[in-house]
Amino acid sequence: MNKKTLNDVQVINKTVLVRVDFNVPLVNGIITDDNRIQAALPTLNYLINNGAKIVLLSHLSRIKEEADKAKKSLAPVAKRLQEVLNREVKFVPHTRGLELETAIKALKPGEVLLMENTRFEDVVNGELVKNESKNNDALGKYWASLGEIFVNDAFGTAHRAHASNVGIASNIKENCVGFLVQKELEMLSQGIDNPEHPFVAIIGGAKVSDKIGVIDNLLKKADKILIGGGMAYTFFAAMGHNIGKSLLEEDKIDLAKEYLEKANGKIILPIDSATAESFADVKAIFTDGIDLPDNLMGLDIGSKSIKLFEDELKDAKTVAWNGPMGVFEFENFKTGTVAICEAIAKLKDSFTLIGGGDSAAAAIQLGFKDKFTHISTGGGASLEYMEGKTLPGIEIIQTK
Ligand code: ADP
Ligand code: MG
Repeated sequence: MNKKTLNDVQVINKTVLVRVDFNVPLVNGIITDDNRIQAALPTLNYLINNGAKIVLLSHLSRIKEEADKAKKSLAPVAKRLQEVLNREVKFVPHTRGLELETAIKALKPGEVLLMENTRFEDVVNGELVKNESKNNDALGKYWASLGEIFVNDAFGTAHRAHASNVGIASNIKENCVGFLVQKELEMLSQGIDNPEHPFVAIIGGAKVSDKIGVIDNLLKKADKILIGGGMAYTFFAAMGHNIGKSLLEEDKIDLAKEYLEKANGKIILPIDSATAESFADVKAIFTDGIDLPDNLMGLDIGSKSIKLFEDELKDAKTVAWNGPMGVFEFENFKTGTVAICEAIAKLKDSFTLIGGGDSAAAAIQLGFKDKFTHISTGGGASLEYMEGKTLPGIEIIQTK
């Protein structure tokens, strides 16, 4: 990787601003899943052990009006972080001002400070100004002035240019990525940019329109693309099949045709479906073949398709997966997604990668967390990486 990492900067006695992703789920002020806090520990422990004065910035959810602020404070996160680090975390309930500046100046090497939710800056005096989310220049400059080195360790927002990542990074002398972002980039680059062949991509999810960029980019890189999920039905419609009540994006039929031609046999579609009469978690009606009667909607791939996809995956050296094969949230329509997880779990010595929020959640929820080489922590960011886009939060980081 050509971007500077923590190993390329001297952090001892320096005030280091770290953009972390502490956007944890909160229910009535209680953190229901602290994975994102745990994920920041390698970087934080390294900085603590190497004598940095650590200032943490993170967003939490969205702030659209003044009233959101009470429920979206990072105070509970500071408390949890203090427990997992087993050391004091100084929480400053502001995103600017004298109290924050004084507390930062008072930090000693190895001490940790967390400032309030960066998106509090999106609403100023009751007005939605989006200073954080639209990368207000003055805000980025101000935050940058509070430290000497900037570390971007928030992969989940790397596809956005916000004041707390791009703004700070472009206004500070030295910057680098943290260990979490470094690992994401190394894994995604191995899986997408330097794959060992055969490289099989699996693309699913609800809509073709969400995945056009991924199909487009992976057609150039993969040997085969297996397509499942709701988006498969727009492809079937493009081939002239009857898809019943299945999800259809009519305005994408021509594009689907175009891709089928361009793919030259690389795209493999399901050959049967698990269906229901409505979008509900009811016993599946299995269909033979692709055409569906008018009253049915396809909610998962069928058993012949599973077999077909398993065969295609058997010899893969690299697998990149984005988008579930069916409505995995329904007990009756998770079979295809589980089968793909199992087929991938069986591969020995292959590089296997999941990108995409729902696919990652599905694999984890279905019990396959440790069966993949890498499950990306950044839904939108990993999707954009798979589309071959540059991520502004990474782009701005200095090269070695
Ligand atoms: P990711 O977040 O991994 O990129 P998407 O957001 O594109 O994935 O798609 C996930 C959603 O697609 C899931 O909520 C799932 O229920 C839905 N889905 C999958 N197959 C179908 C289908 N046949 N019909 C309707 N929705 C589907
Ligand atoms: Mg999604």
